[in-house]
Amino acid sequence: MGDKMKTVIIGAGAMGSLFGGLLSHSGEEVWLVDIWKDHIDTIRSKGLDVETGGKSQIIHVNATTNVTSIGKVDLVLIFVKTYHTESAVSDALALEDENTVFLTLQNGLGNEETVCRQVDREKVLLGTTGQGATLLGPGHIRHAGWGKTHLGELDGRMTDRVNQIARIFQKAGIETGVSSHIHDLVWEKLYVNAGINALAAITGLKNGEILEHPETLRLLETLVSETAEVAKRKGIQIETSPIERVKAVIEATRENRCSMGQDLDRRRRTEIDAINGAIVREAKLLGITVPYNQMITDLIKVIEKKF
Ligand code: NAD
Repeated sequence: MGDKMKTVIIGAGAMGSLFGGLLSHSGEEVWLVDIWKDHIDTIRSKGLDVETGGKSQIIHVNATTNVTSIGKVDLVLIFVKTYHTESAVSDALALEDENTVFLTLQNGLGNEETVCRQVDREKVLLGTTGQGATLLGPGHIRHAGWGKTHLGELDGRMTDRVNQIARIFQKAGIETGVSSHIHDLVWEKLYVNAGINALAAITGLKNGEILEHPETLRLLETLVSETAEVAKRKGIQIETSPIERVKAVIEATRENRCSMGQDLDRRRRTEIDAINGAIVREAKLLGITVPYNQMITDLIKVIEKKF
């Protein structure tokens, strides 16, 4: 990779558009790829409208529904929902040459494995992001959160390529660090999603309201402790107590309706399989049971069946 990178974002919804818009605005060559034609057509004709704190900014960024029109690229950033990763990566193979790197910043567990089924493991990077965005309509997003982004090589090495990606993110205003323990950070985010998302989604509560009811507080603590037990047995280490970490996130996002809640409200499929469902799968491999995670996964699955 030279100083400049050619980047494709596959899945240009809320988060893909946010990262693509910010990178393009900072002078990077970026292509947004999405199967949603109205959205791509709007970005091509009017630009991408990024709303921040009530103010709109129009950003011009390349966008297409045809991944084969772009040529080979340095970086493929995967931002589809977890249940679309397999097909998105399959499409993205058209972008690959010997030096192309694939990075997933999606939530949940299993993204790394899904990408590595189709791409050489050496080419795959993993990360998490505390940035947040909401899709408001075709070509229109809201920048809703500014947490840190972490990137890492799967084997923990500090390489030029991971540092270079962190630099271009930083230059675009996306606060980014490189970690030698990226799997620990993915689990740290998983605690938060596993504790809050399905519980808030089913009960219809905002994040902060979970702490106000003894019943939801108890459920939250049990979901997180089951997750922590699985993590501990897998050798995952996080610096703070998982429950305290989740509560701190809730305090900081009290008024938010979490993304899984928004999915259920709009009668859309959720990422439950990559969150509580993934904890159930990991627990089974370890020979332990996680009944609360199993129950909440089953409840979400039944609700989804009615859509
Ligand atoms: P989204 O639904 O807004 O966007 C996903 C986009 O992928 C959609 O526009 C869809 O049309 C597109 N897509 C589906 N299949 C495709 C394919 N084969 N090729 C190209 N495009 C395809 O989702 P989002 O909220 O941006 O979330 C993306 C990921 O980021 C999820 O894993 C989510 O958990 C994670 N995440 C989201 C936030 C947030 O604030 N929204 C924050 C952190 C992490």
